[in-house]
This record gives sequence, C-alpha cells and structure tokens, in this order.
Amino acid sequence: MFKREVFFSLVAVLLVAALVVVSFPAMAQSGFLSTATPQPSPTNNGGSATWEILNSTFESNFPNGFTFTLEATSTGGKIVSAAAIWRHSPVSSRTRRIATIDESGTQMTAVWERAPGDAVPQWAGVEYWWLLQDEAGNIYETPRQYDEYADNTRNWKRMESDDIIIFWQEGVPDRIGPMTIAAMERQRPFFEANWANPLGYKPRAIIYANFETWGEWSPGRGTVGGGIVVVGQTSQTWGATAQVYDPIIQPIEEVANDTVLHEVAHLYQYANGGTAGLRWFIEGNATFFELTSGPRIEQRVRRWAQAGTLPSLQEQGPGGREAYDVGYMFWVWLTETYGADAHRRVWEFIRSGRTQRAALETISNVSFIEMETAFRTWLGAVNPEVPTPLPTLPFFLPPTPTYEPTPSR
Ligand SMILES: [Zn+2]
Repeated sequence: MFKREVFFSLVAVLLVAALVVVSFPAMAQSGFLSTATPQPSPTNNGGSATWEILNSTFESNFPNGFTFTLEATSTGGKIVSAAAIWRHSPVSSRTRRIATIDESGTQMTAVWERAPGDAVPQWAGVEYWWLLQDEAGNIYETPRQYDEYADNTRNWKRMESDDIIIFWQEGVPDRIGPMTIAAMERQRPFFEANWANPLGYKPRAIIYANFETWGEWSPGRGTVGGGIVVVGQTSQTWGATAQVYDPIIQPIEEVANDTVLHEVAHLYQYANGGTAGLRWFIEGNATFFELTSGPRIEQRVRRWAQAGTLPSLQEQGPGGREAYDVGYMFWVWLTETYGADAHRRVWEFIRSGRTQRAALETISNVSFIEMETAFRTWLGAVNPEVPTPLPTLPFFLPPTPTYEPTPSR
C-alpha cells in the first residue's frame, strides 16, 4: 500500500509534503496490456451433471458493499451449496461469500458488506465467479465475469485506453481524463523498456474531488492521526491508485502527467521485486517515471549539491521530499552512467532476491559508497566525499561514537 500524506496545520492552512509508505511481494504475469489473466478451466467441471446458468447479476451498493445473484440449474438435483468468489486484480487474493439458496435450489444470493479493515474504493474492478454443488455432489465453477464497484451516489466520469482506466469525480477538471491517457501512452515505451515483468492487468486511477468522498469508502482511513491526512493510496490488491485532487497542492496537469505515472510505477515495482527497503530508492524510482517533473527536481538537487547540503544516501538516506528528489536524480545518474538498461537490470537482480544496494553494486562493480561519491561528483557537489558509515566492531562495545554528521537541511 502507498499513502500520499498531507500535513494539516489545524489553524486552517493546508500544507504540504508527499510521503509514501510501501511494501509489496512479487508476482509474475504476462501480456503487457492484458486486462485479465486467462483462467485454466477446472478439470471435470460440473461432474456428471449438465449445468445451466439462467441469470447472473452483480449489483454495487456502494459504499456499503455489493451483491451477487445467480439463477442456475443442475441435472444432478437442487443446488445445495453455493459461494460467490471474487478478486479485484489478478495479483490480489480471492474473497468468497457463502450464498443463501432459495427452496427451489436454483436462486442464490451472496452479499459482501464492508467492514473495518475490509473495504475497497469505488470503481475497483471485480472479477467474479461462482462455485456450486448439487444434491448429487457434482461441483461446478461458473465462467469468470467482470464488473466494477460503481459509485452511483454521485457523478463520476470514466475513460479507458490500452494503458489505464481513469475515473474522476465531478468537480475534478474533465481534462484529467484525456491528459492522463495521453501521458500513459507517451510513457508506455519507457515503462516497457524499464520493467522486465509486466503488470498483467490494466491499472486504474480514481481521482476524488474532495476529502469527504475519499474518506467515505473506508471511514477513518482519511485520518492517520497527529494531524496527518492521507490523500491517496495505491494498492496492488485493487490494481489501482486512488488520489484526492486538491488544486492548492497540485495543478491538474501534474496529477495527470506525474502523480498517476508515479503511482503506476509503484505497481510495477510490486510486480518486479517489491517496494520494501530504502525510501529514496523506491520513491526516487517511482518519480523516474513521471513525465514532466524532472527538470524542476534536477534544479533543486543541483542547488543542494552546490550549497553543500546534499543529503547522503548511506544508511537509510534522506526522508521526506529529499528522498523523492535525490532518489530521482540517482536513477537518472545510474542510467546515464551504466546504460539505459541499467534500471531494468537492477530490478531483475532485486526480483531474484538481491538487496537494493547489492543490486546496484552488481551493476557498477564498485561499492555503493564509491557509487555515491561518483553520483555526488556528477551532481556538482562541493563535498562529493560521502560520510563513512561507522565500521562494525564485533569484539567490544565502541566508546560513544562520533559520527560525522550527515549534511542536512
Ligand atoms: Zn511514491
């Protein structure tokens, strides 16, 4: 999960700061643009009976949940057991609900109701099917069907291309749709070139016009506590990013050209080895896929380098905004120095189990500290030497260590 967080001063001023929290396992899929992974047919599906589906419906009751109904018959007698099964993306786990069955043994209803810790945003995709058993013990799995968790309580617009499905609430400027689709199309070759493993599904972007709508689908989610308000989240479980549009924080052009692409890059990270680990590595990497932010970031980071305030990437490296900015420049440097395919190769090593630093060192054949010195030199840092990490002293407790202070701002 990813959270973009905004700190509120309670005195009424909105301020700033995009932070992101992450952690994802990996998963293999095929077909860069495929919306769904074909499912193998269950063997001996239906047993010795003949099954017939007469009617199948999915109804969204957003924000409370959704309902599946099925009318089906079997030559093996009444249906005695039925469950609806669904998932929101091919890489997410399945959920199931046991259905109630009417006396005729042909009409089934299964209901999902959201609960704390079990909620998804509106417009999440729903891939669903049924598992049925008749009186004779035959078991039948119905074909997959697709729908979405529609929010019919307010006005939304939807656009879909080969790269993405975008939903935006009334109040968000309509140009978000075509702009996002154009940005994704323009970056498609960049995504394809830089990731060995495709997503295996079409990502979704859900853009909210206000915090109330965002907070509604999962009460309490909008507030983390301590005055921190979460304004967005990206999840492999939904295969989507959900973001609140706030023109004070970010113009709509940046949402389309940068934020959505950044969040989609997090989905790719998930599919290529995961997003745990160093914040500057993960956030800088997602920023690397933004379309228009690069020149602004480069200017900022080079200014820090010239002022001698460039934070070090050793240990955990910087947090906050600096993690995004310096991390981004690191990926620019890496691909300029070790070739356009360096990104892809680094992530292939990560996917095969190497740590982030080890993957980088495998590409460069030098230690990470030497890499960082070269990076800082490339940026024009007045102090290219990296503060040396404290050596490990296994035999005795060191005296109070004096650590060369990390340059900070
Ligand atoms: Zn991020």
